[in-house]
Amino acid sequence: MWQPYTEEHDHFRAMVRAFAEKELAPHVDEWEEAGCFPNEVFKRAGELGIIGAHYSVEHGGSGGDYWYSVVKAEELPRCRAAGVTMGLLVQSDIATPVIDDLGTREQIDEFLVPALAGERVAALAITEPGAGSDVAAIRTVARRDGDDYVLSGQKTFITNGSRASFVTLLAKTSPERGAHGCTFFLVPTDLRGFSVGRKLEKVGNWSSDTAELFLEDVRVPKRYLLGEPDQGFMYLMQSFQSERLIGGASALAGAHIALGYSVDYGRERVAFGKPIIKREIWQHRFVDLYIKYEAAKALLYQCADRYNEEHHVKKGPVSFETVKLVSMAKVLVGDVVSEVMDQCLQFHGGWGYTEDYPIARAWRDARLFRIGAGTSETMKYYLARLMGL
Ligand SMILES: Cc1cc2nc3c(=O)[nH]c(=O)nc-3n(C[C@H](O)[C@H](O)[C@H](O)COP(=O)(O)OP(=O)(O)OC[C@H]3O[C@@H](n4cnc5c(N)ncnc54)[C@H](O)[C@@H]3O)c2cc1C
Repeated sequence: MWQPYTEEHDHFRAMVRAFAEKELAPHVDEWEEAGCFPNEVFKRAGELGIIGAHYSVEHGGSGGDYWYSVVKAEELPRCRAAGVTMGLLVQSDIATPVIDDLGTREQIDEFLVPALAGERVAALAITEPGAGSDVAAIRTVARRDGDDYVLSGQKTFITNGSRASFVTLLAKTSPERGAHGCTFFLVPTDLRGFSVGRKLEKVGNWSSDTAELFLEDVRVPKRYLLGEPDQGFMYLMQSFQSERLIGGASALAGAHIALGYSVDYGRERVAFGKPIIKREIWQHRFVDLYIKYEAAKALLYQCADRYNEEHHVKKGPVSFETVKLVSMAKVLVGDVVSEVMDQCLQFHGGWGYTEDYPIARAWRDARLFRIGAGTSETMKYYLARLMGL
């Protein structure tokens, strides 16, 4: 397959791989049990330049292209806990790109630079109890009062939410205008009236904390408004593209790892006098899974290449064609990853259903990808409109 990587990308890949395998993997069982990983992990990833690899040097990054972000997303899953990967990707690619795109110099210095250094934990707060797929239905309101905005409302499902130092938050500044009345704010979590509610118990991704947030008349200075008022929905639709790409790259990498150790398992596990991988039914099944994996990866790489060119190099908006392809990739990756994990678990038989083998965690973690950052159905809903069906 066509490869966009240089020797520098390969060095970076080796470094992230070593970080995931040597510094994260030995601890993930403990972090899964605890329902969170320590904040020091952000600091260490910041020190190594993992979080900010693809951000400009002026914004606290290392000045790399977008492929550094893809490499990071592909290597972090070697820690074998998608929750840790997700927490780190929220910090590097989900809560922060919109600050990179829109932030004033002061906002970049106060929020982005310390986030890329791993010194301030970041979260993205969009979803609410009554509004997930339908973002325009959010009810958190930001009312102008002198030089401040006063924010009231509730957010839920917020990754890194229980320990974030600030949240990149979407609120309604013009509630009567629906999608055209949303605005982004940078909200430090120590402001009066801001509180963290329940940490949610989840099917998978246990080591990532997922929290409810409450805002009761939180007074946010006007200087923390991000971009233009009432343009937040449009900014979000742009930044979703990177979130979906990077989430897809990490989900696919997790599936590839699972394929590898499952085939190894099948060489050792004997039934009816033969290793189970020698059964033609399983050989064909694995061939099919590898074909689907390669096809999904090819589409994802096509999207990453377009995103790199349009948004990262030219600093422009992502084109409709790219949005369409990214939405397609999100659906395809979700289907492929779910199928891979399910078949790999099946191949392990009863052992696959125990915590003795890594496939159990990989299977439950992977289920999220068809839901988070836009469900598969929502992607198809948008695709049908984009395609003029
Ligand atoms: C572990 C986890 C971490 C998350 N992290 C974050 C985070 O950090 N920040 C954040 O803001 N959010 C986060 N989310 C929220 C996530 O993005 C939402 O859960 C997701 O967008 C779906 O919204 P919902 O849960 O409200 O489902 P709903 O929107 O209520 O959807 C319910 C069902 O209806 C279907 N549906 C909805 N609209 C349509 C349509 N037009 N056509 C057909 N079917 C449709 C959906 O596909 C789904 O099957 C996280 C969620 C989870 C589970």
